[in-house]
Amino acid sequence: MEVTYMPGIAQGQHSYAPERDRRKEPRFEAFGIVDAILRDPKPYARLAATIVDVSGSGMQIELPEPLDAGDNIELRLKDVTVFGEVCNCRPGKGGRYRAGIRTSQVIASPLQNRHLPDVDLEPYLKKKGLTDAQRKFYTDHLETCTQCRENIEKAVQFLQKVSALSSKSGS
Ligand SMILES: [Zn+2]
Repeated sequence: MEVTYMPGIAQGQHSYAPERDRRKEPRFEAFGIVDAILRDPKPYARLAATIVDVSGSGMQIELPEPLDAGDNIELRLKDVTVFGEVCNCRPGKGGRYRAGIRTSQVIASPLQNRHLPDVDLEPYLKKKGLTDAQRKFYTDHLETCTQCRENIEKAVQFLQKVSALSSKSGS
């Protein structure tokens, strides 16, 4: 499989480090829990994975469910999104599973991943349906983004209207 590094990523401070710089760039390991999204054959199943090791061509992750070799996976890190293929998966410690991922592509996180997408506003407010990593990412993002805070405010008002309507019709 061809490994593609997007221009600018390799030189950036959050570079997907080439082999020779590995010891100087422990960022992926330091980051810990990330969102892992299975794209194929179970589209958009979202799991909380922990990156436990990174090498020049891939990484080892731990997660709560087993993966199949050949599954396509997307790992959402803070500044980059890593696409890869599952090479192997075996039971690990504490009932978790350890999977080897071969990286196929690393891209800078697209803007829509950084802003809260509309579809995640309600899960965020109702505190369900998101992984801890995603929630933390959104919370951090909201501190710096006026636009998303406005969207959250609108969603709060909408949900209040909905609950007011449903309590009226229920009585
Ligand atoms: Zn935003």
